[in-house]
Amino acid sequence: MNKETRKVYCEKCNKKVDYDIISEIKKEYKGVEVNIEQNIGICSECGERLYVTELEEINLDKLYSRYRELTGIVTPQDIINFREKYNISQRELVAILDWGKMTINRYERGSLPNQSHSDILKLIIKEESYFREKVEDAYKNGRISEKTYNNMHFSMDQEKTSILEKLIELRLSNEVNIYNGFKKFDLDRLENLIGYISSKVNNLYKTSLNKYLWYIDFSNYKYNLKSITGLRYMRYTFGPIIEDMDYELILNLKNKFEKEVTESYRSEITKIKSKDNYDISMFSDKEMEIIDRVIEVFKDKNVGEISDLSHKEKAWIETKDKELISYEYAHDLKYI
Ligand SMILES: [Zn+2]
Repeated sequence: MNKETRKVYCEKCNKKVDYDIISEIKKEYKGVEVNIEQNIGICSECGERLYVTELEEINLDKLYSRYRELTGIVTPQDIINFREKYNISQRELVAILDWGKMTINRYERGSLPNQSHSDILKLIIKEESYFREKVEDAYKNGRISEKTYNNMHFSMDQEKTSILEKLIELRLSNEVNIYNGFKKFDLDRLENLIGYISSKVNNLYKTSLNKYLWYIDFSNYKYNLKSITGLRYMRYTFGPIIEDMDYELILNLKNKFEKEVTESYRSEITKIKSKDNYDISMFSDKEMEIIDRVIEVFKDKNVGEISDLSHKEKAWIETKDKELISYEYAHDLKYI
């Protein structure tokens, strides 16, 4: 480098001058004791302090990294790694967080985030579920596109849920006919319906849930000519149940409800608890009327009583063991 480019303007001398470098200890930054050594340029003619860009950049880097070390403020590399993990751009990340357009760009280039931004970044880095909430919020409010949303790479734990959902869809989707009440299987409806039933019924057990769903689907077929969930049911010892016992899969879902398994000395008892976040806006008034009526009829009956009622239905009596129950029998329902 030639000498000319190293010259810096000195206000006191009012001209470009050569500079010397002195070292100085910076003791404090934003109330934190940092004690870092900095290199400062001084005018080689008058000794005045000068602003030398190359030196100041190095000083700032040193200062910020020491300050980050001491306060735990998020680092540029943390943010870059995080974006790479989820396959998102700086623009997408600010859209998700609803921050100013250039915020992340500045932080990744070394600017020091304020404490609250740093806290939020550290939280989304550490807690995927928290980040996922932010992403879903951004998607719902149109800040990120569906494409961005679908391209994001969530970790295994989250993917397991969607693999389970895919598996359920795959197993339970069939052509529309009399065995699903002329309705395509709808997992979203099913999850919300279970969330709703389990919030209205105390002590909802697995066996009862099957009967609730069966009565709701069949009653809706009887009165409104379609099932509500598109589920297929089969005849089983304890009454109608979801085809191939796939309620076992369904009950592993965690969006709208969760199962609580207790071991008694004879067997295992599965209770379904609502997360009380169900969305019933997808059901019509007529459907809600059916759903509420079924809940009203059964909510004070125990598992045995509900089973007994289902055993008096023609649908159960006339269908062979482990065979699909036709929705034709809906017209003969006795209790709804
Ligand atoms: Zn000078």
